[in-house]
Amino acid sequence: MEKRRMFPVGEALKNAEEETGVEQGDSAVGKALEVLRQEVVGGLLYTHNRANSNTSRLLEVASFLYGLIEILEEKGIVAIEELDARKETVSERVEKRFLHKGMGVNLQEPEQDKYTVQGAVGIDCENRVHLCKAACCRFWFPLSKQDVDEGVVHWDMRFPYIISQDTDHYCKHLNHGACSCGVYEHRPLPCRTFDCRKDKRIWLDFEGAQINPDLEAMFIQPQHNDSTRQSGDVGNS
Ligand code: SF4
Ligand code: SF4
Repeated sequence: MEKRRMFPVGEALKNAEEETGVEQGDSAVGKALEVLRQEVVGGLLYTHNRANSNTSRLLEVASFLYGLIEILEEKGIVAIEELDARKETVSERVEKRFLHKGMGVNLQEPEQDKYTVQGAVGIDCENRVHLCKAACCRFWFPLSKQDVDEGVVHWDMRFPYIISQDTDHYCKHLNHGACSCGVYEHRPLPCRTFDCRKDKRIWLDFEGAQINPDLEAMFIQPQHNDSTRQSGDVGNS
C-alpha cells in the first residue's frame, strides 16, 4: 500500500508565500487562512458536540430499550420477528421527522443530474441586478450529492451541505464586482432552474421592475437562515 505523505500547515504556508511572493504575517493570505481556520474550528466544534451528546443519549436509550425487549420476550408478550418488522416502518417515520427539524445532513432531494436538467430560465439579469442586487445568490439551499462529490462548490462546514456564504449572506462564489458566478460551469442545480419572476420575496412586480422593499431586511434578520434554507431554490446569475 502506498504510504500517504503528511502535509503540515507550515509547509502549506511556506508554499503559499513562495507562490504568491507575499509573506504570510499580516498579508491577505494570512487573513484568508485565519478565516478558513475559524471556519474549520467552527465545523469541528459542531461535529464534536453533536457526536458527544448523540452518543451518550443513544447509549442510554439503547440500554433501556434492550432491557425492555428482553423482559417482554421472556414474558411472551412480544416476538422478535414481529418487532423487527415493525422497526422498519417506525424508523422511516422517525427519519422523516429528524430531517424536517433541520438536523443531520441536508442534501437536495430528489437528486437530479444538474448538467442535463431541463427548465433553465432566461432572465435579463444584467438589466436588473442594480435593483435585485443578486438576491438569488443570498438564499440558503442544500447542495446535491453530485455537487459534494465534485468538490467544486463550497458548502458551509457548520451546516452540511448548505451552500457556503459570507457574513453578508452572499454565496462565496459570487464575484461581487462583476456580479457573476465564479463556478458558473459547475453551479448547483437550483442556480440553473430558479425563476425569480415568481418570487415575491424579490419582486413585487417583475414586469414593472418593482422590487420588494422588504428584501434587504430579510437578510438582516437573525432568523434569515432558518427562514430561507427550506426554500430549496436560488438564482441563476
Ligand atoms: S435571477 Fe437573480 S440576479 Fe437575475 S434578476 Fe433574478 S434575482 Fe436578480
Ligand atoms: S449562481 Fe453561483 S454565485 Fe449564485 S448562488 Fe449559485 S453558485 Fe453561488
